Amino acid sequence: MSNADQFRDPFRELIEAYALGALDPEDRVAVAAHLATGCAECNKALGESQWLVSQLAYLAPEADPSDMLRGRLLKTVRAEAAAARVSSSAPAKSAIPFWMWGAVAAALLFAFYNGYEARQLQEKVRVTELALTEQTRRQQQVAQELALAHREALILTDPKSMWIKMPASDKTLPVLQATWHQKLGIVVSGWNLPAPSSNRTLQLWLIPNSPGAKPVPSLTLRPDWSGKFDLLVASPPDSPSGTKWLAITEEPEGGSPQPTTTPIWVGTVAGK
Ligand SMILES: [Zn+2]
Repeated sequence: MSNADQFRDPFRELIEAYALGALDPEDRVAVAAHLATGCAECNKALGESQWLVSQLAYLAPEADPSDMLRGRLLKTVRAEAAAARVSSSAPAKSAIPFWMWGAVAAALLFAFYNGYEARQLQEKVRVTELALTEQTRRQQQVAQELALAHREALILTDPKSMWIKMPASDKTLPVLQATWHQKLGIVVSGWNLPAPSSNRTLQLWLIPNSPGAKPVPSLTLRPDWSGKFDLLVASPPDSPSGTKWLAITEEPEGGSPQPTTTPIWVGTVAGK
């Protein structure tokens, strides 16, 4: 959605009716005040509308228009006609018959009305589209969450998965359980974890078998409000056979490329 759409000018859709003199006094004053602020879009629209009204006026016969059409529309048309006559180069009155003038007036009014209706409809369509987009987004989110939950369930129930206990060096902390499926990824879960201080998070590391290799960073996650920790790594950066330990450290929000604190939880992978 562009800014232009977001901040649509509410006066714009009143301009045709204003040019036709078909607005309530209250709206008319409001539109006039808005035009006086110099709004380019509305003044341009007004110019176009007045041009159309004046074209209509050129076709007006000498007869008093109130004889055949009534209403505020006519007042405006006459005013425009008068202005056009005064302003010099009004073309000579044509011999267009009386009834055609009415037809043209009706056609123009119809066109203005349709323009107004079309904009109302456009606005409704836009709102509906927004609602639909939001609904689709939510559905996709739910579908994605379901897919992840399904994947996690498969990892946790497949006998081929490797189970890795991750005790904490601080014995008052709960033991985490890591489950690693060769194809589906790693789940690390635990309950009653203390919340890291604000702007801090827990980060999983894969520590490779090869001597001297640096810990490979994986995902970060804060325990939820209840202390539940449930991390799914769908694409681990290494394989179980290449990994010696899983470790979890506390890191700044967003995670670190290398651990900045001593691991709180460590689980042994190799040798299984
Ligand atoms: Zn405006």
